[in-house]
Amino acid sequence: RAKQEGRNTFRLYSTHMDIREHRWLAMETALRNAIDNGEGLSLHYQPLVDRDSQRLCSLEALARWYHPEFGQVSPGDFIPLAERSGLILPLSRYLMQQVAARLRAWLDAGLTPVPVAVNLSAQQFWQQDLIEQIRALYDEYQLPPGLINFELTESMLLDKQQQAVRVLQQLRQLGCRVAMDDFGTGYSSLSYLHQLPITTLKIDRSFIQQLGENQGSETILAAITGMAQGLKLTVVAEGVETEEQLNTLRRYHVNLIQGYLTGRPMPAEQITERYLAVAREPATNNVLS
Ligand code: C2E
Ligand code: MG
Ligand code: MG
Ligand code: MG
Repeated sequence: RAKQEGRNTFRLYSTHMDIREHRWLAMETALRNAIDNGEGLSLHYQPLVDRDSQRLCSLEALARWYHPEFGQVSPGDFIPLAERSGLILPLSRYLMQQVAARLRAWLDAGLTPVPVAVNLSAQQFWQQDLIEQIRALYDEYQLPPGLINFELTESMLLDKQQQAVRVLQQLRQLGCRVAMDDFGTGYSSLSYLHQLPITTLKIDRSFIQQLGENQGSETILAAITGMAQGLKLTVVAEGVETEEQLNTLRRYHVNLIQGYLTGRPMPAEQITERYLAVAREPATNNVLS
């Protein structure tokens, strides 16, 4: 009887897996089609503003995918799906092209775009021809240097720090700024941070959202920002949602704010209307310039 139960349990489990597996496969096919014809894929841009002047300093490009059957799929779902199914390289290529085209459109409209940061996934970072691709993109769209920046995460560099330094140096030589994203989560190793030629630390949203809720998060904020200041890194606070959080951040070495408080991710047209097409004072203290 136990054996029979076990078998039934197994059957149920197996059926469940089949359904989930089927859904993944259907999504994978849909994502492949979306990349092939560009349908349903887009980018939103989230402002990073100077903490004190609140001026726009840069943007982060965030992928969006809408599918008629699956609805709005979160990048937290479709980026890992793309990574597992070999679609991340064509997807990233498509998205980077969109960013370059957008920057070109802003320039052609006589506007002064701010730099746009693109999230790199591990496979993309370790591609042999990454640097060549970026160079080609700058060339094709005739972009002045520094307009495309990159974000990466620590887990991508694990055990390969020496090789990573070389890739990062090449990115820096192209004039790209490089941010360590989601800093403070996962594998944070303070011991090698100073060896990496990065420009920016993005403090993970989880710390920012705990500010005011527990003392520990502010202690960590103090430690991270103190270290970043010593290393002369630009510091971004991610996921700032309240004035209280912003006020706490004013007590530390934090340069830029990114969060719902200062601007949600939005379509490029809204960035144009709200930020670029309005008369802007010259940014005298832009930490990125
Ligand atoms: P990330 O790079 O850390 O991006 C920041 C995420 O925090 C975004 O989520 C953004 O919408 C969200 N966020 C910003 N401010 C706030 C806030 O005040 N409150 C809250 N609750 N959330 C806030 P999103 O757009 O869902 O993207 C999730 C992740 O997916 C990104 O995290 C990034 O790791 C990945 N991703 C997005 N687009 C791309 C892409 O084009 N390529 C790659 N490789 N990864 C991407
Ligand atoms: Mg990011
Ligand atoms: Mg982040
Ligand atoms: Mg994050």
